[in-house]
Amino acid sequence: MSHTPTPLIAGNWKMNGLGASLAEVTTLAESLKSEPAKARVAICPPATLIERAARIARGSAVEVGGQDCRAEAAGAYTGDVAAEMIADCGAGLVILGHSERRSGYGESDALVCAKVQAAIRAGLEPIVCVGETLEERRAGRAVSVVQSQVTLSLPDDLHDKRFSVAYEPVWAIGSGLTPSLAEIGEVHQAIRATLLARFGDAGGAVPILYGGSVKPANAAEILAVQDVGGALVGGASLKAADFLGIIRAL
Ligand code: PEP
Repeated sequence: MSHTPTPLIAGNWKMNGLGASLAEVTTLAESLKSEPAKARVAICPPATLIERAARIARGSAVEVGGQDCRAEAAGAYTGDVAAEMIADCGAGLVILGHSERRSGYGESDALVCAKVQAAIRAGLEPIVCVGETLEERRAGRAVSVVQSQVTLSLPDDLHDKRFSVAYEPVWAIGSGLTPSLAEIGEVHQAIRATLLARFGDAGGAVPILYGGSVKPANAAEILAVQDVGGALVGGASLKAADFLGIIRAL
């Protein structure tokens, strides 16, 4: 397996977007057709828009993902969505373990790990999120917390599977704050070391995305940090023009 991961820039729309918002996906697809990106590009809209977004993106360079899935394949889980359902809508990826789910829904590393297995079974490529809180960073525990999350959130049998890890410091999400470039580099190198120790050479081919207040103005310097293999973008992915500003920074 290659040691140079293809970068991935993924947009997380969170609980934002109605049918009219899909015009942004059209704009993105058209722009990437006239000027191809140096990264894979994905949009993860709310579940209600996945199928329509996938239809618009079909045949373009835009990939579509979900934002979460249930670990079980089916059953009495009112309101939840299974990985296979997301794949059935035409998505190819799914964000798992986002901090808004870890904190808002009490998702443990073990549950995230089960969801990763469900996603793999459904043929989806997981984007597995990890990241420390401000208290953990202030206590000097950022690297150890993140390494533990990576270890416990990933199942063993991922050697030949496509997945990525997104380092998203909880305190940087939606706050306008970002770690220093040195801090980003330190955590990304620690994640890379963890992946290599766990998966051997295959761990060198896993893109490690940075997420947390990425915008066109700071994307170039963040994406240039060693072992930063793309970005997971929240707010700045809602408008194609902003998201393209990040994509074009690579
Ligand atoms: C996110 O929620 O994954 C995220 C990175 O959000 P933002 O870019 O808005 O900080």
